[in-house]
Amino acid sequence: MGHEFLGEIVALGPAYDDPARLKRPALYPTLKVGDRIISPFTSSCAECNFCRIGLSSRCVESKLFGSLALPGAQAQYVRIPKAGGTLFLVPRLPSTRGVIDESLLLLGDVLPTGYFAALQALRHPNLQTLIGPDHTPFPGSWMLATSVHQPYSPTELSDDEKVITCAVVGLGPVGICALVSLLDMLDSMQRKYKVLAIDPNQARRAKGAKILAKLGHNRDPAVLVVSPDEALGALKQLNLPFGCHTVLGVVGNNAALELSYNLIHPFGVISSVGVHTNPVFPLTGDELYAKNVSLSFGRCPVRALHPYALDVLVRHQDVFGSVGGDAGLIDKVVGMHDEEVKAVYADFEAGRVGKCLLAPWGFTGDALELQYDVQKINK
Ligand SMILES: [Zn+2]
Repeated sequence: MGHEFLGEIVALGPAYDDPARLKRPALYPTLKVGDRIISPFTSSCAECNFCRIGLSSRCVESKLFGSLALPGAQAQYVRIPKAGGTLFLVPRLPSTRGVIDESLLLLGDVLPTGYFAALQALRHPNLQTLIGPDHTPFPGSWMLATSVHQPYSPTELSDDEKVITCAVVGLGPVGICALVSLLDMLDSMQRKYKVLAIDPNQARRAKGAKILAKLGHNRDPAVLVVSPDEALGALKQLNLPFGCHTVLGVVGNNAALELSYNLIHPFGVISSVGVHTNPVFPLTGDELYAKNVSLSFGRCPVRALHPYALDVLVRHQDVFGSVGGDAGLIDKVVGMHDEEVKAVYADFEAGRVGKCLLAPWGFTGDALELQYDVQKINK
């Protein structure tokens, strides 16, 4: 559908000559011709309440690239509505040197969405008694200040009880991005953790294992890659009789949701990203009640998360910075010629390739060359 893309600004609309734009919110970047930009898969205005508080996926002006409302980007030129609110300016920081252009494509959707799956799980209030700074649900309560015994005191937890336990169900591109983001967050918290990475597809499990090895989890007994059939047995192997504190469902279908429910710890959080197309929801209210399960669903606010996802991308070029190979998330870059595109779509249908990047201005080998001719766009 062409909803993930990057490129360069070749022309700006009249809004950019309007002095009123200077009064726009700080989120609204000042774009100029020649800037390198990344686009989220939806447009956003940066001016509505949702945009300004970081919930750009529910922008009141939002449109989806590659839908009836807004054409996709499998083209040499793309017209961007609300460009100042939609596009993310690739910063010219020293840390972005060495970041290959192809990997920036992952910021259009899959990496921020995977990051979001982990973020909305680990920041969920239900997990704060385990991972929050004070382990109390209401730190401002006067009762806690006067109580002799604080029921959630972290000093009363054993080392085993402090281990954060997670599962990632689905190891496609978004699932891998969720797994890398999750491990990145857990490492930054300097806490012990156990993680199950689950996928029914052997090739995806193999890729997941290769990526985990790159991240230093080769044969790590606390991080296991298993099939759905092996998942409940793996809980026993990890000594998790009550399940995982959070399950990231990436990208959800009913079988994955049912498995997520079977894996979730009481008071746990199932964080699901991606579109659910099955009209029947597989879990009942009674089941959710029986485990006090919280469900976090919905579209990732990609534009708001771009700076954070870029940070993960820069620090994990070991995972994201290659095309093809056993561990690469982008399998192939092809030119945008009819025969090449038809062949790559056929390969995708047959499961011979995963994510492929179309280079509309040609591809010269080591680096993606984003060339353009300003004269052409003015015709
Ligand atoms: Zn908005």
